[in-house]
Amino acid sequence: MVRTDGQTDVVVVGAGIAGLACAADLEAAGLRVQVLEASDGVGGRMRSDRVDGFVIDRGFQVFNTAYPQVRRRLRLRDLRLRPFTPGVQVHTGTEKIALYDPMRRPDALGGLCRQSVMSTRDVVALGSMSVRDMLLPASMLKRRGERTTLSALRRAGFSEAFIEDVLRPFVSGIFLEDELETSSRVFHLVWRSMLRGTLCLPTDGIEAVPRMLADGLSDATLRLETPVAQLTDCGVMTAAGTLVSARAVVVAAGPQTAAALLPHMDVPDYRSVTTYYHAMAPSPLNEPVLLVDAQRRFLNTCVISEVVPSYAPAHRALVATSVLGAEAPGREVTVRRALSDVYGTDTSAWDLVAVRSITHALPVMAPPHSLSRSSRVGSGRYVCGDHRTTGSVQGAMASGARAAREVVRDLA
Ligand SMILES: Cc1cc2nc3c(=O)[nH]c(=O)nc-3n(C[C@H](O)[C@H](O)[C@H](O)COP(=O)(O)OP(=O)(O)OC[C@H]3O[C@@H](n4cnc5c(N)ncnc54)[C@H](O)[C@@H]3O)c2cc1C
Repeated sequence: MVRTDGQTDVVVVGAGIAGLACAADLEAAGLRVQVLEASDGVGGRMRSDRVDGFVIDRGFQVFNTAYPQVRRRLRLRDLRLRPFTPGVQVHTGTEKIALYDPMRRPDALGGLCRQSVMSTRDVVALGSMSVRDMLLPASMLKRRGERTTLSALRRAGFSEAFIEDVLRPFVSGIFLEDELETSSRVFHLVWRSMLRGTLCLPTDGIEAVPRMLADGLSDATLRLETPVAQLTDCGVMTAAGTLVSARAVVVAAGPQTAAALLPHMDVPDYRSVTTYYHAMAPSPLNEPVLLVDAQRRFLNTCVISEVVPSYAPAHRALVATSVLGAEAPGREVTVRRALSDVYGTDTSAWDLVAVRSITHALPVMAPPHSLSRSSRVGSGRYVCGDHRTTGSVQGAMASGARAAREVVRDLA
């Protein structure tokens, strides 16, 4: 039976951070908004579970305080953020190399220059690329010539050895691909944001970010467990058969649903990733640092409870390790073996607490990659989400903000 729901100005389909940012801006413009979310909570790809006293993010991710949308929308103090060590530890197989940001860790500068993996040429290339990316306005970075990240790193003057041993393993963890084929524009923007901001995690898990956005919406704006089945001429129909009429509909439901609800819309391919969460005691490393593996047996690993102690119950530690692609039989055993090597300890007694495999984690962002596409896809129909911009918290929220601007302009 088809029932109709009360009149609203705009229906937003999906309560990921793109939909939540969009809804916040629409409400701020004085419009009546309904956010319909299929699942039992907000956040989409930014959700966290509680498993046996551990906080398990649905795939390891980090939060960057430099993103303009983050600064605009979130009360960072209330997220109780805990920082990672600024930099990365690289395991080459024969040595552990600490590459820390010398601007924030001046004590690391001497060590940085003495690293066997880093020639004078690499120090110069790293310094000049970093100064340029940090100081140039983002608008200029967006206009610069576009190539793959690999070709941009070569042009920046890095040695092949430094690219292979350090940059490729590190950057693979950011874009979830190890060919370094992501657009150089996206790479330089992300590099800039890492230099300008702090990589950290909220004390209550990554889900605290979308929850803070949702808390800012009016009561009754958000409806959970309300999947939208189709768009209609005057709004949407939910899977339960309820018609929700609206003057405009914004599809913020991630790439797969966007393609299903808007059949003529192009969505990019997506990268997948799997994160293994292991528990042990004591902590295998007393530092909140990200480790990468030059042998590329995994993307990255960290003792996440050293970053945020409340991710693990008392007297336990939690290690998060991500690998490219989907979960496969035997994979965890290989990862565990690599972790023994990297943490220098026997991992055979570590408990596997959780595995999170995300098939649509980040969009492929190969050149030419458009950084800002209009959200309008038809009369009264709009789309937003990270598949419209860049696969990041910044990209998703900026896309939501753009959709809201376009809706407000059109309805006015
Ligand atoms: C493992 C992992 C690591 C990441 N690491 C980082 C990182 O370190 N830094 C960074 O900036 N970004 C990172 N990202 C990317 C970032 O999390 C995403 O870009 C962002 O969360 C995407 O938000 P979105 O709102 O576009 O989409 P989504 O989060 O996918 O939200 C879509 C929402 O729509 C809902 N929905 C779907 N179908 C329907 C329907 N029919 N009806 C109603 N609702 C529906 C879904 O349930 C979901 O809540 C990572 C992502 C993953 C998965």
